[in-house]
Amino acid sequence: MIYEEYAIFTPGPVKMSDEILQVGAKQTPYFRNSGFSEVTFACEKGLLEMVNAPEGSKVIFLTASGTAGMESAVMNLLDKNDNALVVNGGGFGARFVDICATHGVPHTNFKVANTNLSDIERLAPNGDHTALVVNAHETSIGHLYDLDAMGEYAVKQDLLYIVDAISMMVTDPLDMQQSNIDVVIASSQKGLALPPGLTMVILSPKAQQALKETHSLYFNFTDYLSNGERGQTPYTPAVTIMLQLEARLNQIKHRGGIAQSIADAKEVAVYFRESIQALPLKTFTPYMPNAMTALSPTDGKSAIDIVNELEAQYKVMVCPNGGAERDTVFRVSHMGEVTKAYTDILIDALHQYYGVARP
Ligand SMILES: *Cc1c(COP(=O)(O)O)cnc(C)c1O
Repeated sequence: MIYEEYAIFTPGPVKMSDEILQVGAKQTPYFRNSGFSEVTFACEKGLLEMVNAPEGSKVIFLTASGTAGMESAVMNLLDKNDNALVVNGGGFGARFVDICATHGVPHTNFKVANTNLSDIERLAPNGDHTALVVNAHETSIGHLYDLDAMGEYAVKQDLLYIVDAISMMVTDPLDMQQSNIDVVIASSQKGLALPPGLTMVILSPKAQQALKETHSLYFNFTDYLSNGERGQTPYTPAVTIMLQLEARLNQIKHRGGIAQSIADAKEVAVYFRESIQALPLKTFTPYMPNAMTALSPTDGKSAIDIVNELEAQYKVMVCPNGGAERDTVFRVSHMGEVTKAYTDILIDALHQYYGVARP
């Protein structure tokens, strides 16, 4: 299964740039030396700048997929004396609920639909909460929450504000200081457009103060923080992906900075949505990120059939949904190395599939 010749619009792994692929083709270097410490420091500095982290923030680099970032954040920052308000608007929100349950963290399963929580003050259930936990972009349905409004609520209620930004950083605005975010969870294979295997947890000074004793060897953040002072990790890091991260952060800078990356993603997302208006497809939610468009067929066709046809006939990869949404929703990612010209491949394929001339 080699996808070199396929056009890729899946929400992770996403289309990567040649520059980043070339870094991945090189010999993995030894890392317990000052040369690699410099790489770690550069990655940390670049990430903290990108999300406008408050002074004194630190990055934990874990060799794992994004869910380990979610779980380790809960393990290190919440315990049985907490009460987490967990926003659950889909599969990833439900995962945070499961993580809290697994680790015995008292929590409220705050089920939401058809809202970006800009009125969270009115909607949030009462309860003596200590933390607010959310996936900024609920990737299962392409739905973006209002991080500023939630941050204001978190400040008012004195909640530790934990944000999984995995599938919206780089394509959509993320500002820790403006939104009063205490913890950001990031991962390599979405907006950062790197291979999977590196997850990062960004801790503000307030979050560092809030660290608890953790019953885990590998996921002990205190250990990562002390090793991080000399640019190292307690265990072998994803060396090559960190070299690719350093290159990617430089690439974002050279291309005009994070604001430009966000503007570019928005341009592609808007272009895609405007270009498919003649087709029997409707967008699934009004609160769409630049990162993704979730679509529902309006002509009774099955979403999974469309996904399979695009792959088999046109060598175009989009993403199916599971469970009850298998037939009603599929997703198109705008993350990674996708220009308007690249997106035309999908737009043309969809028009051909429906037998509709592109206007
Ligand atoms: C992809 C994703 C994750 C991480 O999933 P992994 O498969 O563990 O990498 C976590 N949260 C969100 C919102 C995601 O989109």
